[in-house]
Amino acid sequence: MDFSTVQLTGEQQHFKQEVTALLGEIVTEDVREHERRTGDGFNEDVHLALGRRGLLFPEWPVEEGGAALDRICQRLLDLEIARHRVPMVTHSTTRLVWAGVSLSARPELVAELKPEVAAGRVRFCLGYSDPEGGSDIANAHLRAVRDGDEWVLNGAKLWTTGAHNCQYTFLITRTDPEAPKHRGLTMFLVPLDSPGLDIQAIRTYGGERTNAVYYSDVHVSDQYRLGEVDGGWAVLRGPLDAEHGSGRPDDGLADVSMSVSWTRHLEAAIDAAARWAKRTTRPDGSLVADDPAFLDRLGALLVETEASRVTPGLMGRVKGSLSYIAGIAELIDLVGTEALLAHGAEGALDDGVIEEAHRFAQGTATYGGTTEVFKNMIAQHVLGLPRLSLPGSKSYVR
Ligand SMILES: Cc1cc2nc3c(=O)[nH]c(=O)nc-3n(C[C@H](O)[C@H](O)[C@H](O)COP(=O)(O)OP(=O)(O)OC[C@H]3O[C@@H](n4cnc5c(N)ncnc54)[C@H](O)[C@@H]3O)c2cc1C
Repeated sequence: MDFSTVQLTGEQQHFKQEVTALLGEIVTEDVREHERRTGDGFNEDVHLALGRRGLLFPEWPVEEGGAALDRICQRLLDLEIARHRVPMVTHSTTRLVWAGVSLSARPELVAELKPEVAAGRVRFCLGYSDPEGGSDIANAHLRAVRDGDEWVLNGAKLWTTGAHNCQYTFLITRTDPEAPKHRGLTMFLVPLDSPGLDIQAIRTYGGERTNAVYYSDVHVSDQYRLGEVDGGWAVLRGPLDAEHGSGRPDDGLADVSMSVSWTRHLEAAIDAAARWAKRTTRPDGSLVADDPAFLDRLGALLVETEASRVTPGLMGRVKGSLSYIAGIAELIDLVGTEALLAHGAEGALDDGVIEEAHRFAQGTATYGGTTEVFKNMIAQHVLGLPRLSLPGSKSYVR
């Protein structure tokens, strides 16, 4: 591992100052409050402000709507976005989908959408999970039936996060129910304002907003088909692999773990506990921060965050989530009931950061593929063990 520091050029330092100033200006307390209230993982004003400066796809050339940033400036931008806690969930799904759309959509559609995506006016969500089961994506039930130059969609998708803030869903459909399950799938980019499409809100325990989306005789033009009919699995593979952490630049400037944002949440909660310990005394008058047992447990948590931060690939996804969930439980144990006071409650610790992280942590074991499914993938694809085959079990196929 290369631990050398990166010397910023004058230009890179100037860029960092500019980005810090910009985010300080646009990520206001109102933006944070909006995020707490909605759980959207998205703020339109912030998103459009970044788009106007080419910062949504900063690696793209300026003439294509990007900012032509070098890798160091891209990294500086990522770090500042994380530090300012910019709600970026919808942007992440848009980036994942664009990777598939740019390869599989008709060239005219790509040309039409690219400037809109760069500017932030067009956004995409992931329409993978069926109510019958999200882990086994290839077991999609939502039906698409050809009708001349159109397709008619009927069925439902659960957990389509961001659908209410996006223009298109990247939808996996069943076009041939007779074919083996991976061969009868077709992908579409479906306009979310299509008649017959109904978006219903779901609010999670962690405070995130996601959606159930119902399709009743939704007509979509064949122009929006991505890739071949019944060839949807090939279209889906790129965005799915990217969501699972592959394809990251190997230049020392990308995060090692794909779960690093969860680790940052845990670190913020540890910082809050440390500040609490420095101002809180035990009944005997001693400062909590002077208690060796407290320091030992807090230190162990910090070591865990470092281990999570540097665990790569599929293991990083599992470790990031499990350390986060266990770490927050440990902090609640260390601090006590004060840790469970929520944002806005009198006496809430650092504005309820531990309480919020505790709720949020639970969902990380589920979305993007559960930790159980990832453990199976590690067994098969990293350790080379045989595939788990239990009678009646679902299989997650890559
Ligand atoms: C907040 C949130 C946001 C989400 N956002 C999106 C989104 O934007 N788009 C989208 O398409 N989906 C989204 N999802 C869905 C998510 O990807 C699925 O919930 C997840 O893949 C699990 O699917 P499931 O809920 O249907 O559970 P199931 O697949 O029914 O699994 C139930 C249980 O069985 C276990 N299990 C299943 N199969 C296996 C296996 N092969 N080996 C071992 N254990 C197994 C699971 O670990 C789980 O504990 C989101 C979910 C949440 C909670």
